Amino acid sequence: MRGKFNLPWSAAVSLDAAMAYTHIIGIAEAVVNSKVGNVGNATPLVADARPMIDPFQRAISYLRVSVTDRCDFRCTYCMAENMNFLPKKDLLTLEELNRLCSAFIAKGVRKLRLTGGEPLVRKNIMYLVRELGKQIGSGLDELTLTTNGSQLSRFADELYDCGVRRINVSLDTLDPDKFRQITRWGDFAKVMEGIEAAQKAGLKIKLNAVALKDFNDVEMPEMIRFAHGRGMDLTVIETMPMGEIEEDRTDRYLPLSKLRADLERNFTMSETGYRTGGPARYVEVKETGGRLGFITPMTHNFCESCNRVRLTCTGTLYMCLGQNDAADLRATIRATEDNALLFAAIDEAISRKPKGHDFIIDRTHNRPAVARHMSVTGG
Ligand code: SAM
Ligand code: SF4
Repeated sequence: MRGKFNLPWSAAVSLDAAMAYTHIIGIAEAVVNSKVGNVGNATPLVADARPMIDPFQRAISYLRVSVTDRCDFRCTYCMAENMNFLPKKDLLTLEELNRLCSAFIAKGVRKLRLTGGEPLVRKNIMYLVRELGKQIGSGLDELTLTTNGSQLSRFADELYDCGVRRINVSLDTLDPDKFRQITRWGDFAKVMEGIEAAQKAGLKIKLNAVALKDFNDVEMPEMIRFAHGRGMDLTVIETMPMGEIEEDRTDRYLPLSKLRADLERNFTMSETGYRTGGPARYVEVKETGGRLGFITPMTHNFCESCNRVRLTCTGTLYMCLGQNDAADLRATIRATEDNALLFAAIDEAISRKPKGHDFIIDRTHNRPAVARHMSVTGG
């Protein structure tokens, strides 16, 4: 703009500011013109708040929220044993998280996933689940969560009561000793109890397993039979280079193309068009009649169809799991009750969504691609 009109710097700055101002006023007018719903004391949210379309014409309809970076496990590929967690004073309150999530729903988010860290260890988390559950059917299509399962037996019934119908449970092995080894602090029996309680409550479960070379690769046929035998889909995930851990991830990295080729010796797999709104590609396994998903951030970059952004428990919005650029929405919501300004801050962030991540793991790239752990951004 500046170059095109050859303006002096100060005039150009005012022109940029004027354009931003016009943009914000446009949103503010929309807020005044159509009022639906209100969260806390903030100005009303709008049904027709501008949809979020990124620079690559991808519509953003999926929000993942890491409600805490803390966890009762210490999975070796995810965290170091002695983690420095965020100071509690930096965390958004659950009311603030509800306000932010509601703003995203007003702007076109249809699917919202609570994750972490372990979402079910955050104090009073069911308050947020219940509040968000009220929006299912009026804006939100689905409220779901990803959990390690340790607290599920306590919360399964209440989750269902709040409108949650499907959850992801992370489970990397069926061997209790190996489970303790990979999670460091986890109790396999408790997770099994949790899965049972969730199924009893009516929650549909998808199991997620990170594929780890020389750890659970040999167990995969058994895990497929276990999941499918109990009516659960199973999705396998490639390990991603996020955050410092004690070990070198290269040692455990298993490309899913290799895993799939190995599995095809035991199973007949046929492609399906089944999607859940996430990055997994599913096949149907003829021998079990169940579905097996592959999430392949490393071997097959799925960024071209990315429809999601990620919010942390401190109100930082990451437009990409694998990039460092972020927007501080906590500052915005603490500075103003005006949702028009919040919408404008979200629009500005979405305008910076990158095309994709640049994850590489091999012997020459064995350092984390991003310094933060998956538990901060929310897997
Ligand atoms: N604590 C919950 C759980 O484990 O399901 C939710 C958060 S956890 C960060 C979400 C998912 O990310 C889990 O399935 C976990 O296995 C996966 N994950 C964590 N670190 C990862 C990494 N470096 N690469 C790939 N997946 C990872
Ligand atoms: Fe905790 Fe989930 Fe990370 Fe394991 S993968 S340490 S359960 S956040």
